[in-house]
Amino acid sequence: MTLTSIVNKLPFDEKLTFINGKWVASSSATTSKVENPDTGEEIATVAECTAKDVEQAVQAAHTAFYDGPWVNEFSGAQRRDALLALATAIEEHRSNIELIESINTGKPIADVRGELDDTIDLFRHFAGYADKVEGRHISSQASANLQAYTTKEPVGVVGFINAFNYPICLLAWKVAPALAAGCTVVFKPGPQTPLTTQYFAYLLEQTGLFPPGVFNVVLGGAEVGQALVEHDLVDKVGFTGSVATGKNVIRSTASTHMVRMASVELGGKSPGVVMPDADLDKTARLVVMGCMSNAGMNCNALTRLWVHRSIYDKFLPKIKAAAEALKLDTPQLEDTEMGPLIDRRQYERVLEYIRIGKEEDCASVLTGGEPALGRGFWIQPTVFYNVDPKARIATEEIFGPVLSVLQPFDNLDDVIEIERKSEFGLAASIFSHNHRDITKFTRRLRCGTIWVNTHNPLYSFLPFGGFRNSGFGREMGYESFDGYLVSKAIIDDLS
Ligand code: NAD
Repeated sequence: MTLTSIVNKLPFDEKLTFINGKWVASSSATTSKVENPDTGEEIATVAECTAKDVEQAVQAAHTAFYDGPWVNEFSGAQRRDALLALATAIEEHRSNIELIESINTGKPIADVRGELDDTIDLFRHFAGYADKVEGRHISSQASANLQAYTTKEPVGVVGFINAFNYPICLLAWKVAPALAAGCTVVFKPGPQTPLTTQYFAYLLEQTGLFPPGVFNVVLGGAEVGQALVEHDLVDKVGFTGSVATGKNVIRSTASTHMVRMASVELGGKSPGVVMPDADLDKTARLVVMGCMSNAGMNCNALTRLWVHRSIYDKFLPKIKAAAEALKLDTPQLEDTEMGPLIDRRQYERVLEYIRIGKEEDCASVLTGGEPALGRGFWIQPTVFYNVDPKARIATEEIFGPVLSVLQPFDNLDDVIEIERKSEFGLAASIFSHNHRDITKFTRRLRCGTIWVNTHNPLYSFLPFGGFRNSGFGREMGYESFDGYLVSKAIIDDLS
């Protein structure tokens, strides 16, 4: 199976981009390759946009916001119905979208199905908020003749920049609440994975319910992203990506104009703790999937594993067996459990970290540590053990299928103290049935999501985001919807 045949069947021209309700050629003659990471083969060519295209897209979103019907004429119920229709359109096209997403990202098809479930759910979930925007009426404090109340209004034009690792699902995290709140959007996907964003734009257009300029796409890399975040008609920026780029984005927005940062979702180095009373067989599989799912290209991947000394030697063979049992095969096969890295750059970066683990950190390899399948960008699920908690592989985000089982610990308090000082604060998990240990862990750790006896599940109704270098702001949940609204105070002197 090749994506070439899928591209030939795409209902839109992938060489064009979607601006102001129309499919247009980019102003540059430049194109970029889209690859299948399973094989390394080129599967499509898409346009590279320029600052000029960003200008057009932002102007379109600005006009749509200030003069168009989406904000000025539509009721919340009309926006709700538009989002519900969009969710239905995605559902109707889901098998096509799933295949494209799987071939473009190398994700196992079964995982992509789950991501499409989440995508559709996110649009339905946030549609439900669109007709429930409420202000407050404040009984007058100053004088009986004063009436004061607040309204909540959409913040304006939102510029989104996405990472490559969950193209359609992270789009839904961002776009569904922003549109539900009444904002207009300019969206830039990760340069490696533009196809499902274009597919989404096509479906949005097909509903006929979103006026021109409400949703726009710009394609390309850093230059296009920078032009978007620096544009002074962008009222809010939402970014998902690495810490280094996130810092650049914050600097750019602050240096050019006052922009409200919606959320900056950055990297992580999520710890997991296995306590002596954990169910070891079940936990071994959960830990391995917590790390290796999406080939480890997961911001909340469980990559630092603390195992209590009393079970350390018993637990290691179970982790090894669970990692070696993972099925690596063509991502479009039903039973494939782990796919390749996204591209050559990421593949080489992960191999370099494996070298660092072996040579500089002097960590022992429990399993893996080599390329896999002899093609594309595949790397074996790799587990190091007896790793110094301060080692590079244990502290830096690798973004690949590499788990560090740290040196054994004796006391949960010591683990908590170390993790409270970690550079990152995105997620963590504890495997235990001891109520006191669980409560101590969930109360004292400073990170956005804490799992107990699981790792990875996320839900549209719960906020997700980080502390410290993992970023700020929250996506999903009511918190994210509220982030696309701003309060206005009305003071009416009735005297
Ligand atoms: P990246 O930082 O390289 O790129 C992210 C996006 O920023 C891309 O669209 C890229 O084109 C754009 N970009 C690059 N330079 C820019 C600039 N100067 N100005 C504006 N935009 C610019 O990250 P990536 O490799 O695509 O994604 C991996 C990273 O994303 C990891 O660190 C991962 O942890 C993080 N991530 C975080 C979350 C979360 O919710 N916390 C979710 C997914 C991924």
